[in-house]
Amino acid sequence: GGEGDFETAEIAKEKEVKERAQKSKNEHERIQLERAALPVYPYREEFLKAVEEHQIVIIVAETGAGKTTQLPQYLHEAGYSKLGKIGCTQPRRVAAMSVSARVANEMGVKLGNEVGYSIRFEDCTSDKTIIKYMTDGMLLREFLSEPDLASYSVMMIDEAHERTLHTDILFGLVKDIARFRPDLKLLISSATMDAEKFSEYFDYAPIFKVPGRRYPVDILYTKAPEADYIDAAIVTVLHVHATQPAGDILVFLTGQEEIEACEELLKQRTRGLGTRIAEIIIAPIYANLPSDMQAKIFEPTPEGARKVVLATNIAETSLTIDGIKYVIDPGFVKQNSYNPRSGMESLIITPVSKASANQRAGRAGRTSPGKCFRLYTAWSFENELEDNTVPEIQRTNLGNVVLMLKSLGIHDLMNFDFMDPPPAETLLRALESLYALGSLNDKGELTKLGRRMAEFPLDPMLSKMLLASETYGVSDQIATICAMVSIGGSVFYRPKDKQVFADNAHKNFSRGNVGDHIALLNVFDQWAETNFSTQWCFENYVQVRSMKRARDIRDQLVGLMERVEIEMTGDSSNHDNIRKSIAAGYFYNTSKLQKDGSYKTVKNPQSVHLHPSSSLLQVLPRWVVYHELVLTSKEYMRCVSEIKPDWLVEIAPHYYSKKDILEDGKKLPKGKGKAGMD
Ligand code: ADP
Ligand code: MG
Repeated sequence: GGEGDFETAEIAKEKEVKERAQKSKNEHERIQLERAALPVYPYREEFLKAVEEHQIVIIVAETGAGKTTQLPQYLHEAGYSKLGKIGCTQPRRVAAMSVSARVANEMGVKLGNEVGYSIRFEDCTSDKTIIKYMTDGMLLREFLSEPDLASYSVMMIDEAHERTLHTDILFGLVKDIARFRPDLKLLISSATMDAEKFSEYFDYAPIFKVPGRRYPVDILYTKAPEADYIDAAIVTVLHVHATQPAGDILVFLTGQEEIEACEELLKQRTRGLGTRIAEIIIAPIYANLPSDMQAKIFEPTPEGARKVVLATNIAETSLTIDGIKYVIDPGFVKQNSYNPRSGMESLIITPVSKASANQRAGRAGRTSPGKCFRLYTAWSFENELEDNTVPEIQRTNLGNVVLMLKSLGIHDLMNFDFMDPPPAETLLRALESLYALGSLNDKGELTKLGRRMAEFPLDPMLSKMLLASETYGVSDQIATICAMVSIGGSVFYRPKDKQVFADNAHKNFSRGNVGDHIALLNVFDQWAETNFSTQWCFENYVQVRSMKRARDIRDQLVGLMERVEIEMTGDSSNHDNIRKSIAAGYFYNTSKLQKDGSYKTVKNPQSVHLHPSSSLLQVLPRWVVYHELVLTSKEYMRCVSEIKPDWLVEIAPHYYSKKDILEDGKKLPKGKGKAGMD
């Protein structure tokens, strides 16, 4: 495919300029030459003219064209930054960090000064910042303190095609403020060609198209479905490496765990091959990858070696990695899914859409002709994949966003100007849950508690837990637990060859069957006692980076708690009060032990299981609250604590009555260890 996009002359020119750029000794000159080689560059003046003439412009250009890194700079160079900041949103934190680093470099400034980024729990900007990259979620939060975005002259909503929940909400908000701020320029930029929908939504704003430059990409399918796509991906990497000409490989995986597993397997299978194969450089990239390791994917591959980038969806359109010639696409993505009827939300590994698969394939043809290995059959592609990914707003819990909109004074949610409205049932469910949490009153108005909750960049259940901890005198401990569950991913390190040692070390934290939340608290407290020692982390098989992140998040939370005047009180031995605070936020996620050792959620009964990593597998408490559900082979509850059923009626009288917590009277044998595993 892709023959139609093939523009030999343009590409040859780009290559030539690039080569000249690489030869240039002067760093500044090299960068300016590289900038001038990008597909958007010839359209610079036309673009600036379009922005001058129209308040809202829809930009469409292929991934790698230079939208994210160049357009804000063009606007800055044209003087817009004298009128206010130039903002640019990204759905992903890694993209915001990586792209701002690149732009700071291109402009020859220190990241955090003229060019900066803002992501949840990390603000790398200053008074000097004129070009600001941020996650879409952070811009949404900025509306709370600056509802008219007065400090901005331009706002670019980038990666609009991704249709994340936050981007969709931003569409409605920026469209609204554009009406009373005629001086604010709005750019909506997208990597896919069907921009008519965006144009129509923004009152028929003009579409500015930058033609793509793409080499043809050969698409290869498997003959039969693959049983294990990780294994198939590894076999394919090795096959490409052994048989195909030079060029880097990009593998699309669904998350950090998969990427780490894949990295380990690849290392194992290439070890011992010695000099019989060329060197492989493995470069992982996913949301929680520490920033100092993110740059590795952009480092030029040394002559004779081959880079293998193991990426999540982030490499689909958010980041462009030059030099990729081979794409390996197992065809899966991790997505949230939400059932408004049961209120159950979980992360599920699902097949990608055709649109996604085609974006992925495109990554192989940016700098030369390429190949895309799809690890599924052509029949599957045609018959089993959806055409497009369903916008997130239609498959997620809206509690967070509804609380935010209410705080912005937007009450009539049913008539909010959604590009694609969420199911009415989901909206009602969100209102109902905020009412049960005490953040809305029975008229649907924000309560004082709700106003305080909205101050925290957290899920309402977590902010409720934090606020409740004040009453129970354990705010210090709950701040820690809140930080520990917010890091995304596990703090426990469990290398394959040392699992027994690791498991033994981890057991210390849950001694006395305290449950998973308090185990996390113990990890943090013990680490803090060693004055945050790295050595301690190694000895206890705890991930240092995750812990540092938890400490940063905790510091931020404590700052916010001061702002809403939550008194810091602590009693780490009062486990009941700690668990009561947790239950005050998470009473929705209550489940009860069944005779067969599985659990059933209390409201809207559904079967769920203790996660194999839970410290409670040996005990099986009768009543538990859990942090989240993950669906793999079964619905697993991750991060679980025991509660007493009476607490539910005390803590959430709007939601639970005595009859919900009636015991059936039969005692259950304790210690059926295997339950929940499969
Ligand atoms: P688009 O937003 O249109 O997809 P970008 O502006 O992100 O395009 O990318 C333009 C160019 O900048 C690409 O060639 C890409 O490889 C390069 N680039 C972007 N970020 C970085 C980075 N952090 N390090 C090195 N190069 C980068
Ligand atoms: Mg981009």
